[in-house]
Amino acid sequence: MDHFHLRDGELYAEDVPLARIAAEVGTPVYVYSRATLERHARVFKEALAPLGDPHLAFAVKANPNLAVLRVMQREGFGADVVSGGELARALAAGMPASEVVFSGVGKQEYELIRGLDAGLGQFNLESEEEGTELSVLAAARGVRAPCALRVNPDVDAGTHDKISTGKADNKFGVPIGEAPAIYARLAALPGLDMRGVAVHIGSQLSDLSPLERAFEKLGTLIATLRAVGLKVTHADLGGGLGVPYKAGDVMPSPAEYGAMVARVTAGWDVRLMFEPGRVIAGNAGVLLTKVVRVKRGIRDPFVIVDAAMNDLARPALYGSWHDFEAVRPSNKRMTANIVGPICETGDTFAMGRNIEGVEAGDLAVFRTAGAYGATMASSYNSRGFVAEVMVDGDKYAIVADRILPEEITAAERVPDWL
Ligand SMILES: *Cc1c(COP(=O)(O)O)cnc(C)c1O
Repeated sequence: MDHFHLRDGELYAEDVPLARIAAEVGTPVYVYSRATLERHARVFKEALAPLGDPHLAFAVKANPNLAVLRVMQREGFGADVVSGGELARALAAGMPASEVVFSGVGKQEYELIRGLDAGLGQFNLESEEEGTELSVLAAARGVRAPCALRVNPDVDAGTHDKISTGKADNKFGVPIGEAPAIYARLAALPGLDMRGVAVHIGSQLSDLSPLERAFEKLGTLIATLRAVGLKVTHADLGGGLGVPYKAGDVMPSPAEYGAMVARVTAGWDVRLMFEPGRVIAGNAGVLLTKVVRVKRGIRDPFVIVDAAMNDLARPALYGSWHDFEAVRPSNKRMTANIVGPICETGDTFAMGRNIEGVEAGDLAVFRTAGAYGATMASSYNSRGFVAEVMVDGDKYAIVADRILPEEITAAERVPDWL
């Protein structure tokens, strides 16, 4: 459920007409709904409430905007971060360091140091090498870093290959078969407090069974570790729940997910941790765009919009579907190809899509753009970075300024020897 709806023949975000935002802020622009973010956060929390006191860490990479993170912080979420930059954002948004989990296969020395200095809640180690390095850094500072070992359970998440992370040949975590030996060696290091295990098998999962298989394997691992006297007090089950992008998409609900987790983890005797991203933010945002012109095509016309693959990369990266809706529906239909202005055929949002009839100057939205949207933007074709807006009831605020192409150029230099 979200708070983008038609009222008197036009699309609103909560109580703000999207046309007003377009007029005042310009297009393209990302629009987030605070009420939707809060609703999704609460539904997720409630679904997991029977699990005791789980640790909830919003996956910052899904939407790192400071205002979005502040909403999550107010909802009691910590953060799952994958870089020093994300760590800084989580702290800037007011999340206590102790509620932050640091994931990622390529944490660099300066990032590990920042995490140690901040007093992070947990480092999710993705290799033995990383743990060895972290131990040296922590011991030199006289601390023991709280750590979980991320394991690769070799489960096919059944999602898009590029966002699948739990197959044996993916780069993430350590092979689950080697995990007991690695965990034991890491637990003996002076700078680490090995306290748990972690999995995250991929994103946009439409089926709970791969997650269930991964969690079952994790449960077996926990028992194996304890059998040889190793301490396991935490289990981080990652993120990954899918969201509907398209009418007819059926996704497991947070309640079904919670029930499955409760069943599989019964008797684990750990504090469970979760890292949801998309399921919280996905349907809480739209990309508001304007039709530049409609061009005749050989078969279907091309609806050329002012948003492009640099603003919303998912269709170009993964062939993803985003619903396209007119802000003022004409009640006529058309079949069209929806494209951006970028000089690349990859800059295509949809081919042969049946949509509401639109013409030059009309406003429209790409739905479900609140996760992995603005955060993946680039300045390709010397386009700037799109502004971001958050709506709250009948008011809105710009939560990220538009960055103009000339501001990007201002950071470039032509050396004097040219
Ligand atoms: C991306 C990521 C998540 C969030 O995934 P969603 O599919 O957005 O829920 C959680 N944990 C880790 C380690 C990730 O890399």
